[in-house]
Amino acid sequence: MAFDSLSEKLQNVFKNLRSKGRLTEDDVKTALKEVKMALLEADVNFRVVKKFVKDVQERAIGQDVMSGLNPGQMVIKIVNEEMVKLMGSETTEIAFRPGKELTVIMMVGLQGAGKTTTTAKIAGKLKTKGKKTLLAACDVYRPAAIEQLQINGEKQGVEVFAMGNKNKPADIAKAAVEHAKKEDCNVLIIDTAGRLHVDEEMMDELVEIKEAVDVFQTILVVDAMTGQDAVNVASTFNDKIGIDGVVLTKLDGDTRGGAALSIRAVTGKPILYAGMGEKLSDLEQFYPDRMASRILGMGDVLTMIEKAQENLDEEKAKELEQKMRKNEFDFEMYLESMSQMKKMGGLSSLMGMMPGLGLGGGKMPEIDTDEAEKNMRRIEAIIHSMTPQERKNPNLLNPSRKNRIARGAGVQVAEVNRLVKQFEQTKKMMKQMPGMMGGKRGKRGMF
Ligand code: GDP
Repeated sequence: MAFDSLSEKLQNVFKNLRSKGRLTEDDVKTALKEVKMALLEADVNFRVVKKFVKDVQERAIGQDVMSGLNPGQMVIKIVNEEMVKLMGSETTEIAFRPGKELTVIMMVGLQGAGKTTTTAKIAGKLKTKGKKTLLAACDVYRPAAIEQLQINGEKQGVEVFAMGNKNKPADIAKAAVEHAKKEDCNVLIIDTAGRLHVDEEMMDELVEIKEAVDVFQTILVVDAMTGQDAVNVASTFNDKIGIDGVVLTKLDGDTRGGAALSIRAVTGKPILYAGMGEKLSDLEQFYPDRMASRILGMGDVLTMIEKAQENLDEEKAKELEQKMRKNEFDFEMYLESMSQMKKMGGLSSLMGMMPGLGLGGGKMPEIDTDEAEKNMRRIEAIIHSMTPQERKNPNLLNPSRKNRIARGAGVQVAEVNRLVKQFEQTKKMMKQMPGMMGGKRGKRGMF
């Protein structure tokens, strides 16, 4: 899966941060040294890494963090924000000429990067946007490139203009523009020839096409799995012929993420799309923020951090987590965890942030959060009616004590029984799942 190895390394760094109550300047520096290592191993450009770490450090060691309540979480938040910035912050779309004017897009890149496949993928996307597109087969060198484009064009229901491999690419491009205008197309995408390496001949040919037809967008296709090579290729293409955006292919097989994190910063050009597989539908719009969450392996949990950061008392949360790990869960802690939950905005707001349960996925009709919150208040009342000894040692709760507690809380004794039973079950469940709180992958140990 994309970014797996980088995500795992970063999560390990953050897990160590989270297991500390308060962070010192040294903690932050040590953690960032590890982040630096992880990014370099992920093949992120070293200059980009250096600047990234410096930016995060400057922000993290500022007064914000030291006076903040949750410094560990603050560091993760800053890393996330800087990562989004690195990838360009905003999502960039392919630009088109206004109105009915023909937009000519030239696809460039090395052989094998995925240019022909991506050309057909983009044509499919444009079709769903209602644009009439023509594809031009100008890769006259790679055997079967023309046929591949024709087959894929047909699959997408988009016309392909080809003149065999005897003509010059610039002449084919010119003829394709004429044809596109005659057919009232909105977009013409020219698939050009790549080479195994950057060479003069290829660049000259691309410049010739650019001079022959009025290219509005030049899109570079690079293979994410080649890491820094992809970044170097992008720089060279940008210097020699000028590019407007990049499509990063084979991100589905890229566990490191170096190209995704460096290209924007090194070339100044946005990543438009990410290729996520061989199928013609496997092309995703590139969202820097979602990509950063994916790299950090945290999804919507980052939003939770933000919320918790405002309200949560980290010391208490740590204490709670440690006790849970040691299976010393008692009614004091039950009470404490409920109060932490309330500080984070209550059940309904928490559920809205859980991946899969949020606004996008619709509300959860089967859980009535008002009712659940009412229940929580009753539970609190019951626990408040217990003596401190009873809270620490629920084994003391014999029938007469339970009766007294029920009277104190203004509930039926059955409700007290139910709570005690639930509590025992939770405790048992925690025993069976030692990794649950701050376990192996660290995703849940955040608070
Ligand atoms: P070109 O020489 O640049 O035109 O490259 P092709 O379009 O022929 O692609 C080269 C190979 O990469 C083909 O086998 C494609 O199926 C594959 N490919 C292209 N894009 C992706 C992608 O996003 N993910 C994966 N896994 N394979 C891809």
